Amino acid sequence: MSTTPTDSTTPTDSTAGGTAEHPRADVRGVAVSVDHYIGGRRVASEATFEDRSPLDWNWKLADVSRGDARVAELAVAAALDAAAGWAELGTAGRGELLRRLADLIDEAVPELAKVECADMAMLEESLRLRVLSRGARNFRAYADLAEAHEERVWSSNGTRNRVIRMPAGPTVVITPWNAPFMLSTWKCAPALAAGNPVILKPAEWSPLSCSLLADLADAAGLPPGVFNVVQGIGEEVGAALVGDPRVRRISFTGSPETGRAIARAAAANLVPFTGELGGKGPLLVFDDADLDAAAAKAAVMYDDAGQVCLAGTRLLVQAEARDEFVARFQEQTGRHVLGDSRDPATTVSPLIHPDHLRRVAGFVQRARDNGDRVVRGGKVWKEGGLWYEPTLVEPLSNDSEIVQREVFGPVLTLQAFADEEEAVSLANSTAYGLSAIIFTRSEERAQRVGRAVRAGTVWVNTFLVRDLTAPFGGVGISGIGREGGDYALDFCSDLKTLQILEGSTEGGDGNG
Ligand code: NAD
Repeated sequence: MSTTPTDSTTPTDSTAGGTAEHPRADVRGVAVSVDHYIGGRRVASEATFEDRSPLDWNWKLADVSRGDARVAELAVAAALDAAAGWAELGTAGRGELLRRLADLIDEAVPELAKVECADMAMLEESLRLRVLSRGARNFRAYADLAEAHEERVWSSNGTRNRVIRMPAGPTVVITPWNAPFMLSTWKCAPALAAGNPVILKPAEWSPLSCSLLADLADAAGLPPGVFNVVQGIGEEVGAALVGDPRVRRISFTGSPETGRAIARAAAANLVPFTGELGGKGPLLVFDDADLDAAAAKAAVMYDDAGQVCLAGTRLLVQAEARDEFVARFQEQTGRHVLGDSRDPATTVSPLIHPDHLRRVAGFVQRARDNGDRVVRGGKVWKEGGLWYEPTLVEPLSNDSEIVQREVFGPVLTLQAFADEEEAVSLANSTAYGLSAIIFTRSEERAQRVGRAVRAGTVWVNTFLVRDLTAPFGGVGISGIGREGGDYALDFCSDLKTLQILEGSTEGGDGNG
């Protein structure tokens, strides 16, 4: 199979149906480029991969350009060419363009929602009302933060010291198939605001909304090469990108297994790397909790078919409250509506791909074989479709695979604990540590347990509320490094210390 890219000298019109050389797929009336976006132009590969809709697996959305090492090479070269100009623009110049991009994202939300709903099956209404506008907020937040940054200046040892953020250089961003647009903007925004050109490689199971992001970046006037999108398979073009020694930062979201592979590539070139990896979060319910609120939030874990890294998938309930909690949880879960993600009445979407459905079903089958008790769901909803019923499993023991490994589907486990000590011990008993959710009315317990659980983010009596300036990441196999706010801007920068011997220079404001 040849994967030679065909260079185009004619950038495609982002609003029309494309050109003969660069056709666009019609996805529910939205014209989506199936090609890479490199150096401000659409670039096609001869080889393609098929992209199908989880809403109906017979619905082929597009044949998408399948990048290879040569495409990776082109993209890194384009980013390198753009690096100096983008750095020179400074935080204010870059901020202006990134805010323009944010405005264009807000305007494009209905089209983005149509495409991402068809491509990934996330609920269209939730995309339209909440998820996609977060993409715009990501760009605004980082434009603001980068501009507001004050360099640290102080005197010591007879010198004036100043810490300067220098753009690090070409940054590769690799993202997973769940919430592809929002997660990609979350990682691209700080890199761009810090002055780095970006090469984004979205996941091959949901590549289309990130192609629209390239159109929006183009329309916002980002200079050619500053933002590039490369499509293809992780082990092919993804591996070529992270292995390129000219890349200076790698920002990855995905599974721990891929995280390890990328960390090895980063280590070979001594490139700083952040990995936001999988989760197996505990949702702890103490007997002093508002059980209605706890049960309602626990049932929310089935939204998006449970394909949410931060979800609290291990329900840990204090023994005294167990029966009452389970009754309310079952009632709340009974309200879920499985169906087409385009329908506003639907609350549980299909899974992304037949392979993933098999993976999820395999976990539940092995749980049954292991003697774990499936107390709700546990089967495919409709033959021929990709829906899996909201499922609850009572494991035989804490060592059961269903407790210890991320399923990434609508499958929760239920365990009881006697006291706070056992609650924390169960919460901390997996290799993961991305998020934890605690339900209690006691402030002291919230503080105590919140500090004791091993997780990058802990929510008490709520879930998924985010302040973009807070650090975000995981411990254990859930991640390495922190993104969010200034933590992300520092990661994307080379921090330089400038020291001037006091009294040795003339002119300036004396703060240099
Ligand atoms: P994945 O690890 O299979 O793939 C993620 C991305 O990596 C894809 O774009 C893929 O093409 C690419 N890739 C694969 N192999 C590669 C290689 N050798 N070199 C370079 N790139 C490569 O993950 P997935 O199945 O797409 O996503 C699900 C996983 O992502 C789950 O584990 C989930 O918990 C995790 N996730 C984590 C967060 C977080 O913030 N911590 C958020 C969302 C998803």
